[in-house]
Amino acid sequence: MNAVVQCVNSTPGLSEFLVHLDCTSYSGEPTHGETVQELAAIVKALWSGRHKSESLHDLKNAMGRRHACFRDSAQQDAHEFLLCLLNSLHEELTDVSRKQMLREQDNDGVPDSRAIKLLQDDSQSSSQSPISNLFGGQYKSTLRCVSCGNQSAKFEAFSHLSVPMPARASQCSLHECIQLFVEGDTISGWTCPECQSSDGATKRLDIRRLPPVLIIHIQRFYNDGAWKKNQSSVLFPLKNLDMSPHLATEDAHQQHHRYHLYGVVNHYGSMDSGHYTAFCRAPNTDRWHKYDDHQVHERSGGSVQSSAGYLLFYSAIDQRL
Ligand SMILES: [Zn+2]
Repeated sequence: MNAVVQCVNSTPGLSEFLVHLDCTSYSGEPTHGETVQELAAIVKALWSGRHKSESLHDLKNAMGRRHACFRDSAQQDAHEFLLCLLNSLHEELTDVSRKQMLREQDNDGVPDSRAIKLLQDDSQSSSQSPISNLFGGQYKSTLRCVSCGNQSAKFEAFSHLSVPMPARASQCSLHECIQLFVEGDTISGWTCPECQSSDGATKRLDIRRLPPVLIIHIQRFYNDGAWKKNQSSVLFPLKNLDMSPHLATEDAHQQHHRYHLYGVVNHYGSMDSGHYTAFCRAPNTDRWHKYDDHQVHERSGGSVQSSAGYLLFYSAIDQRL
């Protein structure tokens, strides 16, 4: 939990947003959800320099009220925690934007029917939040029937890329993992609506839009009868990760495609007993720190690339946040 929060705190744009967030309205009533408030409190304390590591107890309790898996003290997967955290923040902040829109609409004397439509409308504009603006991308998912070749495609939003590792390699590059992700998988048990065959389909994911902040989850844990961890090392760049070869659009160079690394969540150990740490780069510098529970140490950039890398946080170098 601490490792994930340190990387979230180092996210350009997000930490500034949380530090300047006014969580109470003029009447003193809380205007944001409790996950947003608890995370904002932690980020403000970290930035004030008063605490090197703030207690995460209140944030965990707030998460536990939304997600059953965080109610006890059992160890949870950092990837799972990050997704739940981003989802909670997105939902709470989307809700706020909608209420604000409604209030503004009310002030302008817009009829109630339109306000109600705004609430019900699940279109992209009303489901945006600072979270989806920062981390949200889009890919086209195409299913192709292995029997008749019939294809069906749909566009899906993503908040991170969860990339597989090559099965039998002691070392691979991040680009190879992303390539495997794009090429997709074979879906067994899928029934074709065209030829009714249940021989399955191949799935391909074409990345159409990349976000200002790109989170990459390396799928180290896999199940072949029992859960295991792939300990192979993935070589990922600290600077100039070029995603344009993986973008399935003609305007790849006009959108976010070059990234610098600013955070890594590491997983050490096995499936059953593991330990998480984080590497974070101080904003606008090349200085890296290692966060290991309550200990913080400066580290060279070279030590950031290790076989423990599990969640990678990249920010676009062409973004101005
Ligand atoms: Zn078919």
